[in-house]
Amino acid sequence: MKLLIIGAQGSGKGTQSKLISEKHHIPHLSTGDLLREAYEKKTKAGIEAHKYIEQGNLAPDEIINEILKQELADKLAFILDGYPRNLKQAENLDKITKIDKVIYLKINDKEAIGRLSSRRMCSKCKIIYGINRVPLEENTCDVCGQALFTREDDTEEKIKTRLKDFKEKTFLILERYKSKVIEIDASKSPEEIFEEIEKKVFGD
Ligand code: AMP
Repeated sequence: MKLLIIGAQGSGKGTQSKLISEKHHIPHLSTGDLLREAYEKKTKAGIEAHKYIEQGNLAPDEIINEILKQELADKLAFILDGYPRNLKQAENLDKITKIDKVIYLKINDKEAIGRLSSRRMCSKCKIIYGINRVPLEENTCDVCGQALFTREDDTEEKIKTRLKDFKEKTFLILERYKSKVIEIDASKSPEEIFEEIEKKVFGD
């Protein structure tokens, strides 16, 4: 199955994509993770995109479209997280592949900001810690023991910019995929959200 997961920052896209990917054995493609990895590897695209990411702005379409094309080339199923972010990207995606379903994680700003301001990540396992998942040992990944990091774009000011972009640009995508959209209440706990996804998307 080819899935998109859409939701404002802090709606739990990363956490839910990981759970879906593990349970249903479909690759999780996060454009945010791909761009962060490209920057760590100091590729030209990664360095260019980082200038935008560190400001809380969207990276240029050309950079992300190219990365996505390479990633999707050999995949018959996936859960795509973080793309498309605007209508142009959606048009590009529809030229490359046909999406089956769109999961929309609905959340309000207050809840999203609360979650993001306490968010920490493991760069190795990509596990996301925060209000809903507190690490057993402070600032340490439960699974691999690596030190957790705070994303540089998880500051109050950048969170506001990113939420504004979501409302002005990404939200429009839901209209385009209207017949495929499955709305999920993302204000609940990760376990409850996953249960709802299982029922509504996979029919379990
Ligand atoms: P995320 O991890 O999905 O929150 O993405 C982190 C950052 O990477 C975003 O704030 C953007 O700067 C950049 N980014 C990720 N996906 C895209 C995309 N599809 N288009 C443009 N920029 C993106």
